[in-house]
Amino acid sequence: MKYTSEYRENRTVIQIAQAISQMTTHPWNIMEICGGQTYAIAYYRLQEILPSQITLLHGPGCPVCVTPEPTIDLAVDLALRPATILATFGDMMRVPGSREDLLHAKARGADVRLLYSPLDAVQLAEENKDKEVIFFAIGFETTLPVHLTALREALRRGLTNFSLLTSFFRVSPAVESILQDPRSVVDAFLTAGHVCAITGNAAYRKLSEQYQTPMAVTGFEPADLLYGIYCCIDMLERGTYNVVNAYKRAVPEEGNPKARALMDEMLEPCPCDWRGIGEIPDSGLRLREKYAPYDAEKRFVETWHATSPGTAHNRDAARHISATSSKTIIGHQKQTCIAGDIMRGYKQPAQCPCFGTTCTPDHPVGAPMVSQEGSCATFYLIDN
Ligand code: SF4
Repeated sequence: MKYTSEYRENRTVIQIAQAISQMTTHPWNIMEICGGQTYAIAYYRLQEILPSQITLLHGPGCPVCVTPEPTIDLAVDLALRPATILATFGDMMRVPGSREDLLHAKARGADVRLLYSPLDAVQLAEENKDKEVIFFAIGFETTLPVHLTALREALRRGLTNFSLLTSFFRVSPAVESILQDPRSVVDAFLTAGHVCAITGNAAYRKLSEQYQTPMAVTGFEPADLLYGIYCCIDMLERGTYNVVNAYKRAVPEEGNPKARALMDEMLEPCPCDWRGIGEIPDSGLRLREKYAPYDAEKRFVETWHATSPGTAHNRDAARHISATSSKTIIGHQKQTCIAGDIMRGYKQPAQCPCFGTTCTPDHPVGAPMVSQEGSCATFYLIDN
């Protein structure tokens, strides 16, 4: 397959790995910022062909993994409303909230549907005009234009029973939060090529300059990843820093202007909780006020107490319930989850005492064991 198979060729991979070995003289820690990259690194066992001085760290690169408990709790509460269909992607069904996940809510009678596209949720709303259809939309900048296109389609069709529960993240503020962390051991970053294909590289150029840290815009095939690592090691060994676009076939410098315009028109930055990491300023995106009728959180907050007394009525209330609930399903276990330490680069998944014992993809304790792009699930599934 053009643009794919040539980036998997053994000869190319070995040549780049050898070049990296020849130039590496110091220990270096390089963090990838995308769950897809983490998966490819594990699948192709790239750590094993790198010199022992290089350690790959696995950053907060999976929106499923960083969606906080209060947002899951809110999704569960919304799903349990009468005459409501809550639709979402498959990965979100088993992400633990503080009380239960969406699969448990479904077993308790909530109408929770697994969809492959937010546009399918628009069709669902068209076919179920007597019900509220809420699409639980999560993602980094890569997928946000798809969610927004679905909302635009709902507007075009004049649907008034469609809304989005959003869990939208901006990646560059998370990178900055790691750069600002005094405990951070990260020497260089592989930025996520598909995010940069939307946003462009400007935010990373600013961060690289400000924190004097090398970065490489990197793709997802083994040769792409090794070339990104090569660019980082080259800068580290020479004592320089910059953003090198190592994925030029997919990432124009300015990103995708149409997608960015759509996001600017419909979304505004907001503070955001990253599960395991905490709140990061301006790292979230929410629908602008003019789209409030299609924002499930805003839309149902007014009527919440009348329809569901005693439940959380917004994310803040859900956060409080998460913190104080004494009847959590997983509460006794989640204390041991070190997902935050893994996503900040302090630890590797196998260093978690629960990894592969009490925490497996069939019985996930933390969100990184739920999604295939979560680092814990990635390494567990590939090693087993
Ligand atoms: S193995 Fe499970 S408990 Fe440990 S960090 Fe990963 S998700 Fe959390």
